[in-house]
Amino acid sequence: MKRFLPLLVSAFLLAGAPARPVHVRYDRTLAPRMVPLLVQAIRFPTVAGNAKAWADQKAWLEHLAQGLGFTVRDAGKVLEVDLPASGPGAAEAPALGLLVHGDVQPPGDHWTAPPFEGTVRKGRVFGRGAADDKGPMVQALLAMKALKEAGPARTHTLRLLVGSDEESGSTDITDYLKTNPPPAFSLVLDSGFPVVVGEKSWNALTVEAAGSSSPTAERPWSVEALDAGLAPSIVPDHASVRLVSTAGKASLLALKARLEQKRIDPGCRLHLELALAGDAKALVVTVTGKAAHGGLNLEGGRNALVALARLLEGELPPGGPDDLLAFARLAGRDLTGTGLGLTEADPLWGRFAVNVAMVKPGKEGRLVLTINLRATPRLQGAALETALREVVARFAAERHTTLTAGGFFGDSVLAFDPEGALVRRLLGAYARATGTKAGPVISGGGTYAKRLPRAIAFGMWFPGKPYPGHDVDEQIPIADLHRGVHVLIEALVDLACGAPLKEPFQK
Ligand SMILES: [Zn+2]
Repeated sequence: MKRFLPLLVSAFLLAGAPARPVHVRYDRTLAPRMVPLLVQAIRFPTVAGNAKAWADQKAWLEHLAQGLGFTVRDAGKVLEVDLPASGPGAAEAPALGLLVHGDVQPPGDHWTAPPFEGTVRKGRVFGRGAADDKGPMVQALLAMKALKEAGPARTHTLRLLVGSDEESGSTDITDYLKTNPPPAFSLVLDSGFPVVVGEKSWNALTVEAAGSSSPTAERPWSVEALDAGLAPSIVPDHASVRLVSTAGKASLLALKARLEQKRIDPGCRLHLELALAGDAKALVVTVTGKAAHGGLNLEGGRNALVALARLLEGELPPGGPDDLLAFARLAGRDLTGTGLGLTEADPLWGRFAVNVAMVKPGKEGRLVLTINLRATPRLQGAALETALREVVARFAAERHTTLTAGGFFGDSVLAFDPEGALVRRLLGAYARATGTKAGPVISGGGTYAKRLPRAIAFGMWFPGKPYPGHDVDEQIPIADLHRGVHVLIEALVDLACGAPLKEPFQK
């Protein structure tokens, strides 16, 4: 505990007076439970499709929350954990929602710590979900417990909502709202501090091509397989292509020698594997990079697909695979969409965030390239789709080929008044708990705030370091877990124990 002493002092000095006993209670009796609980949570591999892991985690959560003295209700895809209002008029008190999700992204490969163990190393907890979003789930439970034990009377019922498919279908909140009213207002603990007043829109452009290629005299090999990436929201950390010779092994050896001489994008690595035995003489070209969250930490990734596409420029025979890699080069020219003509910058929102994410097999032997675009209010929805379809059509015409554009453009940006009452209160809580004054931010990642009415993203990642969610070796500093609880306590004492806000999102 010694290492947290400076933090404790600052929390005491700066905290609002009614919050002080709550901070003290957390530090003295609840902080030691943080890491063990997070480790337990990480051990449920709650990736999409693992129903057993979800059921096990839900049973664990129910047991834990009841043990902490909360009321638990199974609301289908969402688990509700309530700390009821306590003062006079408690029966009619509004609910203040806290939203987290208990599911996680698939881990991918190349971890140095097992993704579902919860390894504690160098003052950090490693594991899938450590930051996104099981850390905040445990932080919320412990902040609520501290408030219950040492806080003032509550004018609001605190309602923690734990969703189950945020990372995949994202149907949980929509389903929940069919039979449950939303809280009066909610904080989504699944993004960054201090408070997120704008979330870019999530779009996916797909470009489909024939999977076949036509070997030529200069390039006597066919593309038998092309595969890259894991999911639209993750920077691809692997991309590979299998080339089968149609003219013996000499040409493949020459190609291999040529590729070995080429420069590869910084942070990426090239692996060449020759298979000369048997009839099919093949060369497998694999590039590895670094995975990262496509919306929150795009710069932290190293895109293996774009690197492979650049490496193979001029080396593939004509056909769909070559066309798709050429388009990947265009879209991946930078991370802001310059190659796609998305050059307009907004003063508050900045530019697009573009992740050339995947190439996967489509129907009937075709190949599909998927590009994830986080859009600003300047261009989104149908207008964005039209613009991108034109880019694809022009590109295909120039190459005398046929490409089919499609994708998803149904999301829109979420924007709040940066001067709104709730935003200002949250910024105040952040400043008191951390000693740092900061302004609101824009996020490239979408959260539940888009699905639940009157919800805004608040934490729990601290600014100034790359967000590790969706990344290999996802991790969170233990000091930040505690610091985040202190910020949340400060906000909850203010908002859940104060007079209800009439219009939280207006000035
Ligand atoms: Zn998340």
